[in-house]
Amino acid sequence: MSLTADVEAPLESLLGRIEAREDELVALTRDLIRFPTVNPPGDEYGPCAEYLGERLKRRGFEVTYVRAEGAPGDSDRHPRINVIARRAGSRPGPCVHFNGHIDVVEPGLGWSLDPFEGVVKDGKVWGRGACDMKGGLAAAVIAAEALIDSGLDLPGAIEISGTADEESGGYGGVAYLAERGWFSRPRVDHVIIPEPLNVDRVCIGHRGVWWAEIETRGRIAHGSMPFLGDSAIRHMHAVTDRIERELYPVLAQRRSDMPVVPEGARQSTLNINSIHGGQAERPGNGLPSPLVADSCRMVIDRRFLIEEPLDEVRAEVRGILESLSRERAGFDYVLRELFAVAPVMADRDGPVASATACAVRKVLGREPQFICSPGTYDQKHVDRIGKLRDCIAYGPGVLDLAHQPDEWVGIDDMVAAAKVMALATLALLTAP
Ligand SMILES: [Zn+2]
Repeated sequence: MSLTADVEAPLESLLGRIEAREDELVALTRDLIRFPTVNPPGDEYGPCAEYLGERLKRRGFEVTYVRAEGAPGDSDRHPRINVIARRAGSRPGPCVHFNGHIDVVEPGLGWSLDPFEGVVKDGKVWGRGACDMKGGLAAAVIAAEALIDSGLDLPGAIEISGTADEESGGYGGVAYLAERGWFSRPRVDHVIIPEPLNVDRVCIGHRGVWWAEIETRGRIAHGSMPFLGDSAIRHMHAVTDRIERELYPVLAQRRSDMPVVPEGARQSTLNINSIHGGQAERPGNGLPSPLVADSCRMVIDRRFLIEEPLDEVRAEVRGILESLSRERAGFDYVLRELFAVAPVMADRDGPVASATACAVRKVLGREPQFICSPGTYDQKHVDRIGKLRDCIAYGPGVLDLAHQPDEWVGIDDMVAAAKVMALATLALLTAP
């Protein structure tokens, strides 16, 4: 951003305007935290979306509510309600869209304070969703409102959406909206998702995901005579043994040019999410009967790099299973794909990434870091369904605190992020 003397003064007053709204920013964050929008099952989406929509309507936004009918989990009891607000500027121009998910994961155990009260203490707002990502959404709202009130000429349009279900894949949220044109040109040009990636980092994408279930099959028999059956659990042991000895060392060697953080995620990874073999245990319900397991299922979570084609990721696992079929007597398997998302990476020299980086330099006085996220977020739907490449994640909050007990967001960070968002939006709207 090149700043001449005559734009410097209005910009300073814009930043001052945001600083003056710190209390309002905190209040908005607390209000959002007080809606326990826990997903699953998807509680309180309607009231939370409406709260946001009504606020923005009062600031001149045109507000639309979209229920993702038929999306996974959508029901009259738990409707997937999304809100999209748009404010058209003085004349036609580009549209900058801020998208925040309104759902949060369940609080879980280990909290030292009420997760849905929005406690303010030690310069932080505490609660489930404070960091991931109601603090970021509140910062975007304050940034947009301060811009609108600044009197600066704003062509184009500013949009803010609060969407459902990001924590469960985004199908009742951004995916549903993207399929209906809400995240595509010509309606939208640039998207900023205020996920908690730390206030001085610009996140340009994420690794890919491949989830699969492997089932090994055996033959049931009496547990006292296992030689009469064929244990599916022992077959699965052979699978995990191969993964351990052959696949992990190979994955650890595969490094990416994607700037993934933390450093350990800059390679391919595979997690074994679960293994279930034989009869289900029923704790407190007597002893199970003695049986040789005729089925064993394992769910794997493979995270892959932009350099790895998805077909090769699949073939690698199938290769292990096929070779066991040849080598191991009685080995029988089924491989079911559960979920696949391609890696995405926006251009770090593209408009939204560079405008945001520039604003970080101006507001924080330090060099921003370009990163990629180890896990996916709604950028995948903007990119893949909306075909909109100019999308990044940028927001306040410490990534490591997401989904943890005693989650918090720093008030200073929220104010700084709101300033960055306002400057970036201004630059994008007024770009020649
Ligand atoms: Zn999030």
